[in-house]
Amino acid sequence: MKNECSIVLDLLPLYVEGMVSEDTAAFVEEHLEHCPACAAEHSAMKEEKSEGEEREKEQEEQAAQALVKVKKKLRHRALKIAAVTAACAAALMVLLHFFPLYRLLQVQGVSSYYSSGEIAQLLYIGSSADRTAAQAVLRQADEAFHDCRHTREENEEAYGPLARYATPADRGASFVNHSLELWSAYLDDSEGTLWVCYTYEAFDGEGNIVAGSRKVPSLWKVQKNEKGEWAVESIKEHP
Ligand SMILES: [Zn+2]
Repeated sequence: MKNECSIVLDLLPLYVEGMVSEDTAAFVEEHLEHCPACAAEHSAMKEEKSEGEEREKEQEEQAAQALVKVKKKLRHRALKIAAVTAACAAALMVLLHFFPLYRLLQVQGVSSYYSSGEIAQLLYIGSSADRTAAQAVLRQADEAFHDCRHTREENEEAYGPLARYATPADRGASFVNHSLELWSAYLDDSEGTLWVCYTYEAFDGEGNIVAGSRKVPSLWKVQKNEKGEWAVESIKEHP
């Protein structure tokens, strides 16, 4: 019996793990039925095994919970970063709207033609009151841009310095497309300057372009007349 006990005790760890053949399992089970010492050893081993499994399961659960926490934190952080990025982008857009430094690049090629004071006016779009007042001048220019039915003299009579944007009838244009953007407006009580940028294309009846310019920066000196209306006094534009 002693000899069989030592064999069974050797086999027990494998038996508990279910790693023995059927015959061996039957041999071990039969021995356990008749040997309280080995049976006690077997129950102790079984208990230890189930405790170990429980601990393992607990650890896995804790690890899973920790992972969920980390994922939540990361998601929060990603949302925070996205919100901050969006806020920065919005702030940058607002900043670029009021302080459109990039326009310096658009006049870069012709900047030596203008004074540093004139260039500096591009750094800020101007007050909203000045920009509103400037709209009246832009509407006069719109009229000139659209006009392709009159002679040079008639245009000069009608539009003054803005006549250069009208297409004289002898060019044979039948319609004009144009865009005119106010870049900045600086006005005092009676005079001021506007930076504008324009594009125009004049077409004949068959749709061929007979005249045009693209994205031309232009500096307009404006004055207020006796009636309190703003009008362009002179235009400074790189030839
Ligand atoms: Zn035994």
